[in-house]
Amino acid sequence: MTVKKDKVVEMHYTLKNDSGDVIDSSKEKEPMPFIQGFGNIIPGLERALEGMKAGDSCEVSVKPEDAYGIHHPEAIQDIPMKALQGIDNLTVGMELQSQDEQGNPFIVRVKTINKKTVTVDANHPLAGETLHFSVSIESIREASKDELEHGHVHSSSCSH
Ligand code: ZN
Repeated sequence: MTVKKDKVVEMHYTLKNDSGDVIDSSKEKEPMPFIQGFGNIIPGLERALEGMKAGDSCEVSVKPEDAYGIHHPEAIQDIPMKALQGIDNLTVGMELQSQDEQGNPFIVRVKTINKKTVTVDANHPLAGETLHFSVSIESIREASKDELEHGHVHSSSCSH
C-alpha cells in the first residue's frame, strides 16, 4: 500500500526553517495521522509523500507558496487601541479574531503594542518560510467511511 488519496497515513516528522532551527517535531510524541488528498497537511508535503510506502523516509523542502503562503506586507496593519478596549491583558503574540469586508473571520496576531495603536499581522507565523521536513512513513491504512465524510482521521480513543 502506498500513500495516495483516501489513505490514512501516520508519519513522524521534524520541521526546520532555513536557518536549521527545529520548529516542530513529532519525536517524543505519537506519529501524526492525516488523510492524503484532503488538505490535512500543506500541499507541497502532500505532493512529496504521494507514492511512498510504510518504512520509507525522505527529506522534503517546501517553498512558501506550497506551504503557508508568501508573506504579505499589507497584512500587517495598525489598529487603534480604542478598537480593542474589550480585550484584557493584551500581549504580543496574542491571537485576535478580525473580520474582512465580507464579514469572514480571520486570525491576526499582535505584533507590537504602541501607545495609541496596536500592530497586528494576519500572515501565518510561517508565511514566507521555506520549510524543510524530515519525514518517515510509519503506517498506511484505508480510511473509514466516516473519516472520508468528515475529512479527518478518527483515532481509536476519540471519534466525532
Ligand atoms: Zn470526525
